[in-house]
Amino acid sequence: MTEILVSTEPATGAAIWESPIGDVETEVAAARAAFPAWAAEPLAVRTEALRRFANTVRAHQAEFADLIARETGKPLWEATTEVEAVVNKVDISINAYSERSAQHRFEGAMGAKVALRHKPHGVLAVLGPYNFPAHLPNGHIVPALLAGNAVVFKPSEKTPATGQILVKLFHEAGIPEGVVRCLIGGAEQGKALAAHPGIDGLLFTGSARAGVSLHKQFAETPQKILALEMGGNNPIAVWDAGDMEAAAAIVAQSAFLSAGQRCSNARRLIVKDGTEEKLLKPLLKIVDRIIVGDPHAKPAPFMGPVIDNQAAEQLQAAYASLVAKGATVIRALERRDPALPFLSPAILDVTDVADRPDEELFGPVLQIIRVPDFDAALAEANNTAYGLSAALIGGGPELFERFWTFVHAGVINWNKPTNGAPSNAPFGGVGLSGNHRPSAYYAADYCAYPVVSSEAEQIRGAITTGLRDPVTLEG
Ligand code: NAD
Repeated sequence: MTEILVSTEPATGAAIWESPIGDVETEVAAARAAFPAWAAEPLAVRTEALRRFANTVRAHQAEFADLIARETGKPLWEATTEVEAVVNKVDISINAYSERSAQHRFEGAMGAKVALRHKPHGVLAVLGPYNFPAHLPNGHIVPALLAGNAVVFKPSEKTPATGQILVKLFHEAGIPEGVVRCLIGGAEQGKALAAHPGIDGLLFTGSARAGVSLHKQFAETPQKILALEMGGNNPIAVWDAGDMEAAAAIVAQSAFLSAGQRCSNARRLIVKDGTEEKLLKPLLKIVDRIIVGDPHAKPAPFMGPVIDNQAAEQLQAAYASLVAKGATVIRALERRDPALPFLSPAILDVTDVADRPDEELFGPVLQIIRVPDFDAALAEANNTAYGLSAALIGGGPELFERFWTFVHAGVINWNKPTNGAPSNAPFGGVGLSGNHRPSAYYAADYCAYPVVSSEAEQIRGAITTGLRDPVTLEG
């Protein structure tokens, strides 16, 4: 019997889409067949095709944003910015390709002309997460296609409708159907795709749990490119901040934007012991005003639900476990309807929890940690195996210099939220947050490999050292 994947709307629990699970063999074979012709196209042709894709997405902006909002539960205003990011990715990737993968010619030794050019890997698998179901996989797919690869994209099983529409928009823009394929399925199909001998690499955005498992799976195939963008347990330190109202707004945005479902959300708030009340007063004022609601509600909510009931239950369990271990509740994690995954923004003081788990709580739960001095704040910021984003709010340039130098992360901000990274810069983390293949502006680097050629129009060869005197060969 054909297995069917159903997508449900988190805000209502209603089924909004269904489709049979895809076949890995069929999708990889289609991409393999299409790859040579696509790779052979001049860069200008691929660039034009992707510009048409940007225009096609723009033309469907309203309905695409509506679908993303319904399928993820994120507010419509946020889904609209996600579609804008999909459009903007095209120009950013074109610029990045020309800067990071451009052709260069220069003089080599002995009058040789040296050419540096880049080649695509072949067929790349892309595995996407649910939190930005269009923008994040698109951040791999666009640079991969531009570089001449074919792509098999498996969207998250929680947001397959968005993934399928994204691929349809590439086709509608005239990109050949074989060049970008959509594989519908879950982790099982993700594993099978990753193990398929017909792929030349895998570009993954998702949890550290799945990323580590893929890294193991790739241990015996070093010839395949593997780019892992994973989670974070990100710190935000508020230190010597003059304007506490502004600091509180930055903390709230860092912790609760997207209902805490961004890899770059702040999870741990580090403050000087004894100063927390000054920050908490304005922070709680904001938190108590945050509207949690349906993505299309008016007035617009700040946060929608989390992705599904299972995610809500896992967050509730992790929150309850921290409370059981001695955390002080400052704002409780509340679920207004046990049948739906709407969660309120929660704040816990976990300073007295002895064995705090270094886990990414992917939802609206902020943990406060009080420390005696700035050295302790730095140590606490690095008290994680992850290293995605971090922020210092307050202090002067010298304090930020210390923070920047000491903290182990790929995004380190000053007086700015941990999230909302500039889209025309690289994005990636260290530690368990990635495998040193940052995405966004640097995605060009993992989508093509450099080929160096020393070239001369005439054949000129001579060996001048290490040969015996010439002898006359007899016979
Ligand atoms: P996930 O790891 O559960 O799933 C991601 C994708 O991988 C899905 O398509 C899923 O089907 C597939 N998958 C899951 N397990 C797999 C396995 N063992 N083998 C092969 N494929 C597998 O992640 P998610 O819950 O969809 O997304 C949330 C996570 O993504 C969070 O941890 C978040 O921090 C992270 N994330 C990271 C970034 C970044 O840029 N660093 C951005 C967004 C989200």
